[in-house]
Amino acid sequence: MAQVQRMSRLMVKTLRDDPADAETLSHKLLVRAGYVRRTSAGIWSWLPLGKKVFDNVSRVVREEMDAIGGQEVLLPALLPKEPYEASGRWEEYGDLLFRLKDRKGGDYLLGPTHEEIFTQVVKDQCTSYKDLPVMLYQIQTKYRDEARPRSGVLRGREFQMKDSYSFDTTDEGLAESYALHRAAYQKIFARLGLDHRIVSAVSGAMGGSASEEFLAPAAAGEDTFADCPNCGYAANTEAVTFAVVAADGSAHGAVEELDTPDTPTIETLADHLGVPASATLKNLLVKVDGEIVAVGVPGDREVDLGKLGEHLAPAEVELVTAEDFEGRPELVRGYVGPQGLKLRYIADPRVAPGTAWVTGANKQDTHARNVVAGRDFEVDDYLDVVVVEDGDPCPNCGDRLKLDRAIEIGHIFQLGRKYADTFQLDVLGQNGKPVRVTMGSYGIGVSRAVAALAEQTADDQGLCWPAEVAPADVHVVAAGKALQTELAVEVSEKLGAAGVRVLVDDRQGVSPGVKFTDAELIGVPKILVAGRRSSEGVLELKDRRTGEREEMTVEEAIARLTV
Ligand code: ATP
Ligand code: MG
Repeated sequence: MAQVQRMSRLMVKTLRDDPADAETLSHKLLVRAGYVRRTSAGIWSWLPLGKKVFDNVSRVVREEMDAIGGQEVLLPALLPKEPYEASGRWEEYGDLLFRLKDRKGGDYLLGPTHEEIFTQVVKDQCTSYKDLPVMLYQIQTKYRDEARPRSGVLRGREFQMKDSYSFDTTDEGLAESYALHRAAYQKIFARLGLDHRIVSAVSGAMGGSASEEFLAPAAAGEDTFADCPNCGYAANTEAVTFAVVAADGSAHGAVEELDTPDTPTIETLADHLGVPASATLKNLLVKVDGEIVAVGVPGDREVDLGKLGEHLAPAEVELVTAEDFEGRPELVRGYVGPQGLKLRYIADPRVAPGTAWVTGANKQDTHARNVVAGRDFEVDDYLDVVVVEDGDPCPNCGDRLKLDRAIEIGHIFQLGRKYADTFQLDVLGQNGKPVRVTMGSYGIGVSRAVAALAEQTADDQGLCWPAEVAPADVHVVAAGKALQTELAVEVSEKLGAAGVRVLVDDRQGVSPGVKFTDAELIGVPKILVAGRRSSEGVLELKDRRTGEREEMTVEEAIARLTV
């Protein structure tokens, strides 16, 4: 027996128009089809149809986590401050963390992710190497005070995550737990019908497996990944790393100062000198934990402040303001150059030793030519800080990279001993001596996966769920007349008895046109219509995706839908 849901009783109110604040397709459709309702910015209620899809996604995740030996637990969302203070994340998370106080004035937070708490649980429960490895997971509500929660359940301030954590005594053990998760994630996303790519997520980890993201290509995605059609290299653009290839700079002439009035921008300078912007060196001044630092990149490239921030974390990166120039006559706005500059100098790998540049001369209205890296200035740190662009060379094979938008649906991470060190998580080893435990942490955005699926599968008519996650297997529509409703209810009950999950539109006083539009919008994979030929006991089965239609009897419909 499977459930037969009657539209006449189901709490679902479909909308003809997109909600005014919706920007993404999934946001529009999940609201219009009555799956979710906005409670507050980034805070969503799951309505009956939405809860079914959410539960189906959770079930698949649970089954595959159980299959690799994961043990399900449920930890609280309301957490004490102390463990997060010990790990440093109470501070590091900054504005992202929801902090609150209890009646006694004690500090608490709403958990954004649970490494600290799982580490404490395992410290308490596992004491010997015989207790490990252990893999724990939960499907639980997380809280992050996201700056721009605009995309519906794609980016909530309250959202549901499957988070798991592995605990091993050896690096090989961790690598194995990681590999198990990686394989389980591939199965999960394949079963859900989510098209996905696995990309390297950590800069410097070229081809490494210390951290990888699962990205679902979609226009609404907030991540950009670079893909090499030639060698298969794929990385989040935040993680694309170029090598510093030193050039032979011996042929360059001496530094030459140029009179360049009114050329404070790269465009005006390139125009004035008749050189391409790529031959100029742009020096951006930022403050890193309050100290002014210069960042040098080719003039035709943009600095990605997010990337810079990630490289320098936990230090805080801010742009300089006019006040920062006060009392610093050596910093000439618009004419800064690295030569002779007494600041920490960070540069893009393209500013490799031996390359020559046109750059500021640290004098008003003056630039300098033939400024050679390694000869006329030193680079303190090479960091990949420019926005990666379509056609940039693949760091692996040199071919042209292709950029695509995607939604991060999962993230797997070999954490190592960071949290074990914080909480002194040791177990007694085989030789009787304590062994420090090594950890992995692995997340899937369960609520986000629902939206990502909607993004990838919807069409002009509405949602269009893959069978595994759809809120029903078949949407039976009674066109309207009493006879048609009778046939629709009869076939629905028989289908239900045969184990098929049915949503039947038995509403009275609703026009057939509205019912058909709603069926398309709601997106159940098969639509079975009791219409014109109901008096002969003939129904029409329509495939929601392909639109193919076929007439059949009740018995034929049951045979077809139970396979
Ligand atoms: P993002 O870069 O999108 O903010 P993240 O890298 O901070 O995500 P993780 O800490 O890796 O996220 O969390 C694990 C998973 O939880 C992510 O891969 C994503 O699927 C999901 N997730 C993270 N933040 C949100 C959110 N605000 N709303 C819904 N799902 C989220
Ligand atoms: Mg992530």
